[in-house]
Amino acid sequence: MSALESARETGARLTAATPLNATLHWSQELLDAEAARVDAMRSPGALGGMPIALKDNIVTVEQPTTCGSRILEGYVSPFTATAVNRLREAGAMVAAKTNMDEFAMGSSTEHSAFGRVHHPLDPARVPGGSSGGSAALVATGVVPAALGSETGGSVRQPASFCGVVGLKPSYGRVSRFGLVAFGSSLDCISVFSRSVEDAGRVLSAMSGHDPLDSTTVARRPMPVPAPLADLRGLRIGLPREYYPADLDAGVAAALRRTREAIEQIGGEICEVSLPHSPYAVPTYYIVAPAEAAANLARYDGVRYGPRNTGAGGDIHALYRTTRGEGFGAEVRRRILVGTYVLSAGYYDAYYLKAQQVRALIAEDFRQVFASGVDLLLTPTTPTPAFKAGEKTEDPVSMYLADIFVSAISLAGLPAVSLPVGRSEGLPVGAQLIAPYFEDQRLVAAAAAIERVVSADAEVR
Ligand code: GLN
Repeated sequence: MSALESARETGARLTAATPLNATLHWSQELLDAEAARVDAMRSPGALGGMPIALKDNIVTVEQPTTCGSRILEGYVSPFTATAVNRLREAGAMVAAKTNMDEFAMGSSTEHSAFGRVHHPLDPARVPGGSSGGSAALVATGVVPAALGSETGGSVRQPASFCGVVGLKPSYGRVSRFGLVAFGSSLDCISVFSRSVEDAGRVLSAMSGHDPLDSTTVARRPMPVPAPLADLRGLRIGLPREYYPADLDAGVAAALRRTREAIEQIGGEICEVSLPHSPYAVPTYYIVAPAEAAANLARYDGVRYGPRNTGAGGDIHALYRTTRGEGFGAEVRRRILVGTYVLSAGYYDAYYLKAQQVRALIAEDFRQVFASGVDLLLTPTTPTPAFKAGEKTEDPVSMYLADIFVSAISLAGLPAVSLPVGRSEGLPVGAQLIAPYFEDQRLVAAAAAIERVVSADAEVR
């Protein structure tokens, strides 16, 4: 099939998927232009014309980038993200920009200024977030892969809810140039796909040092990982803090099955402890808002998006009115929390303390991996996809949806969520975690597990 034919089919699938509200911008004209570029390439590249959707906080010059926010409505970036340039060089076609929680703050897409995304299997439920639009498009087969962003679980959590693969690389593996900043010490462009193999191919194509992002690690790009035939010789740790007694019965059953499958292919299971992980959610919800408050100061009505000069005619009225109208409630809450924890008098009690706890959380992982454990296995989420509206009135209950994913982000580690079964019809994900920069080991082992666990089997 030519790229043009594939672009037309992708367009038809995007049209059919309209009721999900998963996309914010796409056009057949742009898809056709992507296809023409791919068809003109001398070789098909590592991605051979793969249509890939982008979360709407990853910039391209051809389409607007809104981050799901009114404050960036109509904004078009003057440059394209490094990750997107690299995917295009590898033969990918950009298919669409996807809906998301405003500025990637949320776990359900209910904080998008442009309406929530519907769960592909049950429209009354959420697809997870913040990269819920990308997850829903991959789950429904509209595109084989999509990019999301992770600050604290925003790819693994929706991947788990939607029953697809969600791969977060090590911090510094993929350039953040062109990813709109939320929490700069945490942000990672990450991948959704239907197979582990595709996730590895996409990550490999976009990985590597970028002179435009000083936090990318100066190592060679990651080769495409070859799947392991079995897990013989590998020790897989189950951190006890991630298996609470009150874990959802369906999630617990799916994890039990995954553990048995790992043992069947020769993996050795052992129990370990990550004693500081229970502090990850409160730590994350200090560090991430602090960085967000600083990063979002740039949206002042002067340089980006719509402007409202307000009453009074001075510069403060312009800032106040533009930001007051442009930011939604959750983003305002984060800016308030972030400003508070950074303010003189509270800095030591909150921000500094959170940085210290972050170091302890990361040290736990280092020690467990140094003790001879190769990978860790945990649930990705405490429950399957929840109902829309269930957590919108109580921000803390929404934050707790991240309970098994935040520590990994604070530690900068690579992790993948794999679909490992269904509970009452809803997908359940298992999370595999590797040591820093062992992304290749992670993907190779995940591919072996994927072969022996049935993602569609009812587990209860
Ligand atoms: N749910 C988390 C938050 O709201 C994670 C967001 C993310 O990873 N972008 O901050």
